[in-house]
Parts: sequence; C-alpha cells; structure tokens
Amino acid sequence: MSEQSIEQRRKYVLLRALLIICFSVFSLLIVLFICLKIRVLWIFYIVSCCIILLNYFLLKKKKFFLVLQITVLVIIIQSMFAAYLLGWESNFGLYLITSGIIIVNSLSMNLKWKIIEASLISFLLILLYLNTRNNFHIYAIKPMIIETVGLLNIINVAFTLLFMSFRNFVQNDFLQKELKDQSEKDGLTGAYNRRFFNEYLDIEIRRQNSQIKYKLNRNVNFGIAILDIDNFKKINDEFGHLAGDDVLVDVVRIIKTALFERDILCRYGGEEFVILFTSTSREGAIKAIEKIRKLVEDNYFYLDEKNPKKQMTISIGFASFDEESDIYKLLELADKRLYKAKQTGKNQVIYN
Ligand code: GH3
Ligand code: MG
Ligand code: MG
Repeated sequence: MSEQSIEQRRKYVLLRALLIICFSVFSLLIVLFICLKIRVLWIFYIVSCCIILLNYFLLKKKKFFLVLQITVLVIIIQSMFAAYLLGWESNFGLYLITSGIIIVNSLSMNLKWKIIEASLISFLLILLYLNTRNNFHIYAIKPMIIETVGLLNIINVAFTLLFMSFRNFVQNDFLQKELKDQSEKDGLTGAYNRRFFNEYLDIEIRRQNSQIKYKLNRNVNFGIAILDIDNFKKINDEFGHLAGDDVLVDVVRIIKTALFERDILCRYGGEEFVILFTSTSREGAIKAIEKIRKLVEDNYFYLDEKNPKKQMTISIGFASFDEESDIYKLLELADKRLYKAKQTGKNQVIYN
C-alpha cells in the first residue's frame, strides 16, 4: 500500500466509525423522543439519520472533507436544537464539545480551518449556555425525565469519544506498522530490502565484535547465502516484465517455506537475494539452501496460457562464519561462490 492509500484508508475508517456512531446515537434518540411523545424531535432525528445515511454514500465516493463537514454540522444543529427545546440540563450541549474534538482530531482538514471551526463551536457552546441556563426550556418535561435524558447524553458523549479515540489509536498503530514495513521491505516481493540488510549487517557486525572481544565467538553461527535466478533475462525478454515480476514473487514465496522465522531474507537487487542465517549451524544452513534450490527446480511457474508450467532454476553461493570472521569478506566469499556456480553449470549450491 502506498503512503497515500494508507492515509485514505485511515480517513475512510475513522469517518465510517463516526457515521456509525452518529447513526446509532440518533436512532436511540428517535426511540427516546417517540417514548416521550416529542414529535418535533423524533422527526428531526429521523431526518438527521437520513442525512447520515446519505453521507455514507458520499464516503464511498471518498468525499472525506464533505462528509466530515456535513456530519459535524448535523451534530452541531441537533445539539443546539434539542438543547433549546429541552434546556441546558438535558446535556445536549455536550455534543458541541464532541464535534469540537472531532474537528480538532480530523485528518481531512488543515490547521487554519481547525482553529476557525473549533473557535466557532466554542462560541456556539457559550451562546447556548447563556441562552438555556436557569431552567430555560420550550418543552416542559418532568425534571426527573430531563435528568435521565441528561445522563443518557453524558453516556452517549463519553462512549462516542472513547470509541473514536480507540479507532484512532488502532489506525495509528496500523499506520506505524505499515510505514515500518514500507521502509524495510521490498514492495514487490515482501522480502526485506537492501537498506534493511545493510542496517542488519551493521548490528550483526557489532554483535560479533563484542562476542569476539569477550571470547564468546566459539558459539557464533552465522552464514550468508547469495541466490540468483538462472537465465532470468530470457523470461523478461520472452514473456515481459510483469511475468518476470510474478516469478520473483513466486521464488520468494518458495524460499520462505524453507526458512525459519529467525532467518533474514533480503532482495539484494534485481533477481538476486541474500539469506542471513544467524543461529544455524553450517550444515543446517547448507541443508536449507539445498532444499530451496530443489524446491525452485521442482516448481512449475505460470508465465502465460501457452507456458503455464515453466521450470526455473537458481544458483547459490554460501559462506559461513567459521571460514571467515569479517562479515564483509564473508559476503564477498559467498558472491565469489555464486559466480563459480554460474560459471560451472548453474542450478547448484557452492559452499567451498
Ligand atoms: P544468469 O543466469 O547469469 O544470472 O543470467 P540472467 O539472465 O539471470 O542475468 P542477470 O542475473 O544479469 O539478469 C538480471 C535481470 O533481472 C536483468 C533485469 O532485466 C532483470 N530484473 C531486475 N529487476 C527486475 C524486476 O524487478 N522485475 C523484473 N521483471 N526483472 C528484473
Ligand atoms: Mg540471474
Ligand atoms: Mg543477477
């Protein structure tokens, strides 16, 4: 997912949550005012629910800014209207605070507009308070019922804010994971990218150095395998770049089936991959890469309708820490062995 589409998805999810919660609260209020026989209010909330439903269609069309503005406007109007009819004690004014918080936290507005709208909402809240305090109300309802309505509104507002904060938190978490993945992984295959590989290697080198310093290196198991797909250019030339991309995705999927979670698979460039084995013996790593070579050899790659069962092979060079303790030299050694594998017939693993 690109950064822009993640942002769009966040906006969509948060606005959808807002619409769902508005619809639920308004429906609850329709039932309440039908029970209290206040016709003007239940009709008003039915209209509000219809506007929210309409907003849902606008949301589907990705009109995020419009959806936010209409929804907040509906919340403000209903809040002021109901508070004027039932008085300040009914706590309908609290929905104004909710709308202010929604505006301030929204993703679809710039700072200037947030300040303007939040100031306007604060002004309306003060105006409402000044006009509806001291037992002012148009509808005379028993104080006990007003108290109950007030309590219900406090619960609604608290729940709305909690729910929206929770959704926001979950979305932020998702965004952070997604951005981390994007910076560390290759977009096509999902393998780690070269940048991550270099960083990881730096950390590994420091770890090895400290182990050497404290004479712990007898237990170090570290191996590097470099893999390159054989005759890959031909695939691109004969079947096109997209078919080539599909092969890369398939190869990574196959490689992953033979690795443990702790092994690091990176796309080193083009159709070349590196596997770092950190806690695996030399024999164990060689077994794993032999298995990978065989799995690729035995796999049928779908290239097009005429060639649904194309066979491919890979060549691998492997070197381990017990042969060479300098990690950069180890990488060079693995690369030399890959070259040797290519020179001496391909589709093989060279490890000494
Ligand atoms: P060899 O057996 O010696 O490895 O031959 P080869 O044809 O595989 O040659 P080489 O490794 O030099 O070719 C790499 C090719 O990989 C060249 C380039 O067009 C292709 N390639 C690199 N990155 C991508 C990619 O992201 N997608 C596709 N489809 N092809 C890529
Ligand atoms: Mg190649
Ligand atoms: Mg290559």
